[in-house]
Amino acid sequence: MPIAKIKKKTGIPNVDSSLRVSSGTRRFGTVFVVSAPSGCGKTTLCKRLLKNMPGLCRSVSFTTRAPRRGERNGIDYHFVSTKEFKTLIKKGKFIEHARVFGNFYGTPSGPIKKTLKNNKDILLSIDVKGAMQIKKLLGPRSVFIFISPPSLSALNKRLMKRQADSKGEINKRLEIAKEEFSYLHKYDYAIVNRELKDALSQLGAVLIAERLKIRNVGVRHQE
Ligand code: 5GP
Repeated sequence: MPIAKIKKKTGIPNVDSSLRVSSGTRRFGTVFVVSAPSGCGKTTLCKRLLKNMPGLCRSVSFTTRAPRRGERNGIDYHFVSTKEFKTLIKKGKFIEHARVFGNFYGTPSGPIKKTLKNNKDILLSIDVKGAMQIKKLLGPRSVFIFISPPSLSALNKRLMKRQADSKGEINKRLEIAKEEFSYLHKYDYAIVNRELKDALSQLGAVLIAERLKIRNVGVRHQE
């Protein structure tokens, strides 16, 4: 296929018919979206991934929920009132937003636009409803990873061990987890978090594989 045609088809300006990838190739940034039922270890996994993976930054969401002990405003979340959150929606500041466990959460669009413009990757740790909004908006610029527990009974045990919620609250979270599982087929990857170490290396492998995809790499022609 002639190069011009490839360019037209992919919409990517720096793809060449040569299969040799030269040094100094240009990558296209990706939005990595990670979702998981509550209690699957998603927060720990994402924190470790961000520490180990160069060139990956994190999106800081806005939320109306109260900060938990040790959480810092502007670092873990931007903590705002419901009134402030609604004003931000009206101003079109969110790329997606959703109500989760009775609180509002939203991903600011500014950092995503800036990251993609700079051909960097960004990690979003958000719920399934928000993830579907991103999928609709960003299509191939986004990759979806679902972290799941080994089983629902394992999740139940983890939630009980955490001692953060009442029995009623745990049952509610398990019900919501079942609903979240129904979105699994809309994700690109599923990682079962049995052992944190294994799940982390699988998550890293997904990122590396995605970064190496031809569509994300500007392949430079070499004679
Ligand atoms: P938590 O309050 O426990 O930190 O988060 C509760 C849920 O809200 C988690 O599933 C988390 O991934 C999700 N969440 C956090 N930030 C956002 C966001 O910006 N948008 C959406 N849709 N969900 C979010």
